[in-house]
Amino acid sequence: MAFEVIDKDLLGRIGRLKTKSGTIETPLLLPVVNPLVQPVSPREMERDYACQAIIANAYLLKKNFGEAVKTRGLHDFLEFHRVVMTDSGAYQILVHGDVAVTPLEIVQFQEEIGSDIAVMLDVPTGWNVGRERAQYTVDETLRRARSTLQALTRRDVLWVGPIQGGNHLDLVAFSAAEIGALPFQMCGLGSPTQVLERYLFTVLVDMVMTAKKHTALDRPFHLFGAGHPFMFSFAVAMGCDTFDSAAYALYARQDKYLTDSGTVRLRKMEYFPCSCAVCAKHTPKDLREMPSEERAGLLTRHNLFACFTEIRRIKQAIREGRLWELLDVRSRSHPALLTALKGLRGHRDLLEASSPTSKNRGIFFFDAIDLARPPVLRYQSKLKKWHPPGEYTVLVLVPQTTSKPFHRSREFRRIMKATKAEAVDVSRIHFCVYATPFGVVPIELDEVYPLSQCETSVPADVETEEYVITQVTNYIREGNHGCKVVVLYSDDDAVGKRLLKEAEAACIEGELTFLSSKSEDTTWSKDAVNNLMSQITLALTNRDINDRAI
Ligand SMILES: [Zn+2]
Repeated sequence: MAFEVIDKDLLGRIGRLKTKSGTIETPLLLPVVNPLVQPVSPREMERDYACQAIIANAYLLKKNFGEAVKTRGLHDFLEFHRVVMTDSGAYQILVHGDVAVTPLEIVQFQEEIGSDIAVMLDVPTGWNVGRERAQYTVDETLRRARSTLQALTRRDVLWVGPIQGGNHLDLVAFSAAEIGALPFQMCGLGSPTQVLERYLFTVLVDMVMTAKKHTALDRPFHLFGAGHPFMFSFAVAMGCDTFDSAAYALYARQDKYLTDSGTVRLRKMEYFPCSCAVCAKHTPKDLREMPSEERAGLLTRHNLFACFTEIRRIKQAIREGRLWELLDVRSRSHPALLTALKGLRGHRDLLEASSPTSKNRGIFFFDAIDLARPPVLRYQSKLKKWHPPGEYTVLVLVPQTTSKPFHRSREFRRIMKATKAEAVDVSRIHFCVYATPFGVVPIELDEVYPLSQCETSVPADVETEEYVITQVTNYIREGNHGCKVVVLYSDDDAVGKRLLKEAEAACIEGELTFLSSKSEDTTWSKDAVNNLMSQITLALTNRDINDRAI
C-alpha cells in the first residue's frame, strides 16, 4: 500500500492513497450508497460529481443481492468504476441482532466481490455503554482482527482496522495501540454515529485525538459515519483522511437542505444560498410543490454538492495553511462546534507537532481561542530557547507599532533618530515589542515568519491580553536577555496599568531595576516617544541605576 502525503496543516493532510482501482486523493468523503434506496446513482456521482470513491454496506449487499454481486463483481454491480469501499455492516448486525453471518463470512464476501477498501466485522462500542461492555467490544474486535488478518487470501485489498472503546478514552488508547500494531493498511475510529447525532463533537475530538495519538500517524485514518459537512473540517484537522457519510441522502428524504454551516428545513426557505445545478434552476417553492420522490432526488443532489464543495474548501485551506481559520469560521455555525474547537485546544501539542513550520500566507488572529494555534505555541517555545545576539544592559519593551516589522516602522525610526540626537549607545539596548498574539518579539526576530505576517483583531479580548501580560512578565523573569534594567513603555489604560504592575513585580522578583513610561494621550505621540527616550537615557546614563544594575 502506498500513502503519500503531499501537504499538511494541523493533523490534516492532502494525500494520495493507492488502491487496486486507482489512486484517490485525500481528504476524501465517500458517500454511502444503498442500492435499495439510491436517489443519485453511483454512475451519476462518478460522471457529474467527479466522485472518486463510494462506500457500500457489505452486509446489506450480501443479504439482499449476495450471488448477483459475486457474479458481476462489486464495481460492475454498482456501476461505479473508481474506488469502492465496503463496510462490514457491524452496526446493522448490532441493531438487527443478526447472528446468521459470521465475521469471517463477511471478510470472505468482501474479498470475493472485489472491494478496494474493506472493513473487518468489528463490534461497535456505541455511546454511553458501561465499562465492562466497552472492554468486551475492544477485546472481541481485537480477537476478530487477528483472525481476520489470518484468513485473508487477497493482497490487493486495503483493510481497515477499527478502533473501539467509545467514550472510555483509556480503552480507545488501548484499542488504538493494539489495532495499530497489526498489519492493517488503514485504521478507523468505530461507531461515533451516536456521538455525532447528539452533537457531542467535543467527545468526538477526544476520541479521535486519543486514537491518533496511539496509532502510527503515517497510516491513513478513516472516520466512520462522519455525518454533516459542517464538521468535516474538524474531522480533517484531527487527521481523518477518509470518512463516509449518508447524511446527504438521509437528510434529503426529510426535506433537509445542507449548507456548510448547518441544516435548513426546506419549508422555511425562500432562497437557496447556492448555485449548484439544482439551486440555480429551482426555488425552494418549486421543490416544495414537487412529488416527494422527485424533491428528495434534487435535494440529494444539492446536498452531495454541498458536501463535495466543503471538501474542496478544506483542501484549499490545507494548501494555504489556514485550516485553523476554517475551523474558526465553522465553529461559529453551532455552539457545539465552538465547544469542539475549545476541546481541540487541549490537544494543542499534537496539533503543533504535526503542522508544518512555514506556509507562504499570513495568519489571521481573531481571539483567545487562536492562542492554541501551532505558530503561537511554536514561537513561545522558540523564544524560551533563544539568546539575544548582543551584550545588552537595558531591556526596552514597547507596544505594537503601527506597521510591521517593528524595526522598519515609523515609530522605531523615530526612536533611533532620538537616540542618535542624544548620543545614546544603542548597542547596549535590547529592543522588544509586545503584541498579540505572540507576546514578546525581540527586534532581531521580528522578520521571522509569521511574526510580521499576522493580522490581529483589536482591542484584544481579556484572555488574550492576559496571555500577553504573562508573556511579558515571563520574558522579564525567565528570558535570556541578560539585562539588569527594564524600561516598559505602556498605554495609560486599564490593560497598560495592569501590565505595568505585573512587570514591576517581575522586576522586583528578579532584582532588576524597573523604569516605566506611559503614553500621555495616544500611543506613539511625540511626547510619549520623548518621554520614553528620557527613560532610556536615564537607564543608560544614570550612575545610581547603573551602579545598581552592573
Ligand atoms: Zn445547491
